[in-house]
Amino acid sequence: MTDDSDPSDRRTNDTAGSPQTLAAQALGRIDPETRAVVPPIHVATTYERDADNQYRAGYVYGRADNRTFRQAEDLLAALEAGADAMVFASGMAAATAVFQALSPGDHVVVPKVMYWSLRNWLGGMAAGWGLQVDFVDMSDMAALAAAVKPGRTKLVWVETPANPLWTITDIAAAADIAHDAGARLAVDSTVATPVLTRPLTLGADIVMHSATKYLNGHSDVVAGALISAADDDFWQRIEAVRTQIGGIPGPLEIAQLVRGMRTLFLRVERSCRSALMIAERLADHPSIAEVLYPGLPGHAGHAVAARQMQSGFGGMLSVRVRDTGGGGAAAAIAVAARVQVWIRATSLGSVESLVEHRASIEGPASPVPDDLLRLSVGIEDPDDLIADLEQALAGG
Ligand code: PLP
Repeated sequence: MTDDSDPSDRRTNDTAGSPQTLAAQALGRIDPETRAVVPPIHVATTYERDADNQYRAGYVYGRADNRTFRQAEDLLAALEAGADAMVFASGMAAATAVFQALSPGDHVVVPKVMYWSLRNWLGGMAAGWGLQVDFVDMSDMAALAAAVKPGRTKLVWVETPANPLWTITDIAAAADIAHDAGARLAVDSTVATPVLTRPLTLGADIVMHSATKYLNGHSDVVAGALISAADDDFWQRIEAVRTQIGGIPGPLEIAQLVRGMRTLFLRVERSCRSALMIAERLADHPSIAEVLYPGLPGHAGHAVAARQMQSGFGGMLSVRVRDTGGGGAAAAIAVAARVQVWIRATSLGSVESLVEHRASIEGPASPVPDDLLRLSVGIEDPDDLIADLEQALAGG
């Protein structure tokens, strides 16, 4: 990354303290000229050269870099304990940049259960471009160990909790397996957020977020982020992908993202508490066949989640609606049709609670059962959320 010329904008002068404090103050950055506590948004796409043909301020062109990105990137690096961070136009732009920094012929191991659009891209375009892609059960470390090819595998990608079954991957174990094979470990930590899990401290090399979700938290910004443990050659290649392919966000969106991140801890802690209440309440409901939530002791990944997730198990859960005779999909869609407080919409991680019949969006190739409703728990009164689900499950 280019160097900032203004010392008052450096991370070394930023607020000290816990992650909560860093997030609340967005690193405590003050505009050096006006002393504004919210720095100005830099919208320029180009920058004047010095008379001797240099670019001493460090900025050249808007597709490569932007001062407004830095506050978000430095905050993300601090929250994830990384060496550096980069923001992208979307979570998909961030995730695909990691794979595009590899070379045709490289072998990668990815999860069977993961964000569906990335799974489709990996099985389609990435494979067509020459990546050798193997899909494995990432809750099973023996399966991962069997899938890596020492010397040939360049990247292991995991997502935990994994959308939308909320399977859990043991990040430390996956990092050991990846590193023993000479590969890097990247973690889609969108659902855990840095509030609950810091994958780089568990041995991962790269963390990815759809910042569209919890980091922004208000359903009004599409953005993505990568955070790296090291500012190494691979990171430089990812930066080149962002600059050359141009998957950058707009500065206005990133200023809004920084505002969202100031309340990240409050929102995530509230969503986690409510999600656990809802999961416990629905676990014995006669109209529910199964609740998928890592916070429930019966969940297959509960013990690992309890170890690697701090202060909560996330704000996401799924329920399988009991078939009443017309098929699992019909029963689930009928429940979603009756909600009054929850909103029927895709996406997750925002202040408002969302419900979605997931198979409708993922299509027939998906491993998601037909009867599954995905619930993204927001920050409303949990009693309202539970009462609404109970009336929707009771029938029309
Ligand atoms: N990863 C996860 C876990 C997601 O849920 C999503 C989007 O739903 C993405 C990645 C992709 O993010 P975006 O929609 O910002 O491209």
